[in-house]
Amino acid sequence: MLSSEVSLVTNALIDRFRARLRWIARGIMIATGLGTLVGATRLSHTALPPQPITWEIYAIRYASVPNFKISGLIAGADTSRRLDIAMTVWLLKGSNGRNVLVDAGFQRADLIARWKPINYIRPDSAVTRAGVNAADITDVIISHIHWDHFDGANLFPNAKIWIQREEVEHHIDAAGKVLDRAIDAPDAAMLDALRSAGKVSLVNGDAQQIIPGITVYTGGKHTYQSQYAGVNTTQGTVVIASDNMYLYENLDHHVPIAQTLNAASNLAAQARMETLASAKRLIIPGHDPLVFERFALVKPDVVRIR
Ligand SMILES: [Zn+2]
Repeated sequence: MLSSEVSLVTNALIDRFRARLRWIARGIMIATGLGTLVGATRLSHTALPPQPITWEIYAIRYASVPNFKISGLIAGADTSRRLDIAMTVWLLKGSNGRNVLVDAGFQRADLIARWKPINYIRPDSAVTRAGVNAADITDVIISHIHWDHFDGANLFPNAKIWIQREEVEHHIDAAGKVLDRAIDAPDAAMLDALRSAGKVSLVNGDAQQIIPGITVYTGGKHTYQSQYAGVNTTQGTVVIASDNMYLYENLDHHVPIAQTLNAASNLAAQARMETLASAKRLIIPGHDPLVFERFALVKPDVVRIR
């Protein structure tokens, strides 16, 4: 090889090496630029609106009513079947610091004497098992005005009470007089007192997001305008059916609840719950003791729904 040829080859090699260096350098610049971009995106994220509110859900069993006739829960059930039903309030702990209760249980001595619950603990004490004091409950969503869901509503001194406007106006008049005996007279007086004290927020119908991440729905027709709640969690939407679906058996066998003003509407509501919930197992019935077996206990008589 001639020396000129050698130098040509060497120069060509050096050129290729330089080109490679430039290519690497460009790559580093692009990567650095991307890094800056990613950093900028991260920065701008902190300026965006906050993430959607999510809720931790706890079912708290504050009593059981033994030997309840299943035919009172499941339309057409064999009258010999009995069940120790769970009496439950549902605590929602929000990523925004709010503590929401769905239903309020019962407290009156005459109810305790009549129904003889076992393992009864007053709902304002029961919530402390899930780490929240009664005074820290910011909101109580009442699914319907029956004694075992509404009678404890005034045990939470700082709570706003959410209930459907038509549920209130159907059951009591402007003076608090009972219009439909589905509500107990003492509970009608209590509802009227809460209303007079400005503590009641009336909900106007179906599919209302009343609190960020909590939407209520009507159509279950357990009472005149009973409602149920769809709750946003880190694992999607949980539906708290309350008495619009008493037991898992209602949903599994497509059977309406025994106490309904409109069986077709109740079945439609249960079918709708399946479209609202992120999974069927996240539809939570009102009185089924199986809830406390299907979900993990975090304290005695307290399960985390997830
Ligand atoms: Zn009920």
